[in-house]
Amino acid sequence: MQYAESVIDLVGNTPLVRLSSVTRDLGPDAPLVLAKVEYLNPGGSVKDRIAVRMVDAAEASGELKPGGTIVEPTSGNTGIGLALVAQQRGYKCIFVCPDKVGQEKVNVLRAYGAEVVVCPTAVDPADPRSYYSVSDRLSRETPGAWKPDQYSNPNNPRSHYETTGPEIWAQTEGRITHFVTGAGTGGTISGVGRYLKESSGGRVQVIGADPEGSVYSGGTGRPYLVEGVGEDFWPSTYDQDVADEIIAVSDGDSFAMTRRLAREEGLLVGGSCGMAVVAALRVAERLTKDDVLVVLLPDGGRGYLNKIFNDAWMADYGFLEAAGGETIGELLE
Ligand code: PMP
Repeated sequence: MQYAESVIDLVGNTPLVRLSSVTRDLGPDAPLVLAKVEYLNPGGSVKDRIAVRMVDAAEASGELKPGGTIVEPTSGNTGIGLALVAQQRGYKCIFVCPDKVGQEKVNVLRAYGAEVVVCPTAVDPADPRSYYSVSDRLSRETPGAWKPDQYSNPNNPRSHYETTGPEIWAQTEGRITHFVTGAGTGGTISGVGRYLKESSGGRVQVIGADPEGSVYSGGTGRPYLVEGVGEDFWPSTYDQDVADEIIAVSDGDSFAMTRRLAREEGLLVGGSCGMAVVAALRVAERLTKDDVLVVLLPDGGRGYLNKIFNDAWMADYGFLEAAGGETIGELLE
């Protein structure tokens, strides 16, 4: 019989799939462009990997004790990963989110059994009701609390150095020449990038994809709409020595490509995936068929149905023209 003992054992070992449609303008000398499909992790994103590694390390160091509580200010993929690991290992989870976070995301975390505390955005950070104050207070006052802090936890990049990187190296039989990924905490690019550089003797080129406005591509931290990537500060999980190049991508281009990935490649993925693929294709234009480019797709598209995959939302921001002006409604007719 073939089965896993627990859902945690299903984290990682995600497949690579060739992108054959969005790459068609690259011509006959095009490199092989392969996508690492991270939404096939049980929690639906690449963040399951860091959740397992951070919890394992906290158990080993004694920071997280039996019956303890994981407290983290997150509303997204990291929360889902932590919630499923916590549930399987008998820990409680409390997530603190600002009230701008969609109800669907809160519902997903609650479905896994996590407690979610929603804080008002319209108050000063020093206010006791603020997101920052509440998460600090909860981690101080909750007995057995442990705060993973994905922005400073070395087990975040380490999980990618130990799993994602070796998987890509083995799956491409060491023939990968270019690796492209977005950066939020920077854990993925730093861990995978360092592993691939070391394994190839520095041959593999590592390229970061970044939303226009984020500090990684020289921006001021001004707002953008792609979720999960880019920052307005430099987290310690981001290793500034790994990336050979950072490519800035606009929201409009990211979302147009996200829609193409669903429609043409059968990959219903999130906006940071579209962003990474735009950057990957810009790199691929200067490569040849001897090259092998791997682009990592962090999460699935179900969480974005009311945004990127909603024509009215796209039109409100003027993104439909960038998406070719063709609405999902028109395509159905
Ligand atoms: N895309 C999405 C949707 C994410 O949630 C994240 C994690 N913040 C990333 C990309 C970037 O990953 P990392 O934090 O490892 O840089």
